Amino acid sequence: MFELENRVAIVTGSGSKKGIGRTIALTLAKQGAAVVIADLNMDGVHEVVNEIKEAGGKALGVELNVTSKESNEAMVEKVLQTYGRIDILVNNAGISQKVTVQDMTLEDINKVFNVNMFGLFLCTQSVLKTMKNQKYGRIVSLSSVSAKRGGGVFGGPHYSASKAAVLGFSKNLAREVALDGITVNCVAPGLVNTDIWKSLPEDEAKKVIGGIPMGRPGETEEIAATIAFLVSQEASYITGEEIDINGGSHM
Ligand code: NAD
Repeated sequence: MFELENRVAIVTGSGSKKGIGRTIALTLAKQGAAVVIADLNMDGVHEVVNEIKEAGGKALGVELNVTSKESNEAMVEKVLQTYGRIDILVNNAGISQKVTVQDMTLEDINKVFNVNMFGLFLCTQSVLKTMKNQKYGRIVSLSSVSAKRGGGVFGGPHYSASKAAVLGFSKNLAREVALDGITVNCVAPGLVNTDIWKSLPEDEAKKVIGGIPMGRPGETEEIAATIAFLVSQEASYITGEEIDINGGSHM
């Protein structure tokens, strides 16, 4: 696919057993990158680290809470001690909650924004100095189709808003660091075939599939492949961009 030998990549939220982050981590490791598996869920972190190492790849597990400045800084310190550089950050950690505007509380909004936007900000800020010093960096963040068209199956309005914030934030940052050798991009997946999708009742699943021209959810590998491209040398002139990966559900 894309050569990532000698690159060091952090993937946040990559300790989820069937999640997108795990597949991103496995994919980047397969391309030769040393991958930092960073998540709140340490059982998952150990599993993914072992999976990568058993396949002959390089991986480091780190406990990370993206909402804590100290936790992000401690992770960066550990990565620098281990590998001496940070080339790639994939902001994948995210949470959602199904709720209507009518029923939503400020507490709900704070909780979702705290991880999806403020956590993404803290984590991104913590790697910038290193990337600037290296004059090289690749940052890719997970937005969502629901940022553009609203109405996710699993996420509420605050989730859509937080993922729209990720797009605006990334475009501003792309301009800020364009002369530092750092590119900043987003991917906006539609529905992906993760555990949460499998938990949908059949009639609801049918309804959702009806709105996807390609007639199926995306696979985690399809999200990871796009990210592997965006963090590669081949994508060197792409910045401030967002790539939709949604089977045509939003064009
Ligand atoms: P997931 O729930 O399977 O994985 C998310 C991971 O983030 C978990 O391992 C969790 O422990 C971790 N996490 C949560 N809060 C954290 C924190 N404070 N600090 C560190 N880690 C934390 O989710 P997923 O479905 O794989 O989604 C991954 C990303 O893709 C999310 O940002 C999500 O919004 C986005 N996305 C998912 C879909 C989908 O259909 N699954 C669609 C569009 C976008």
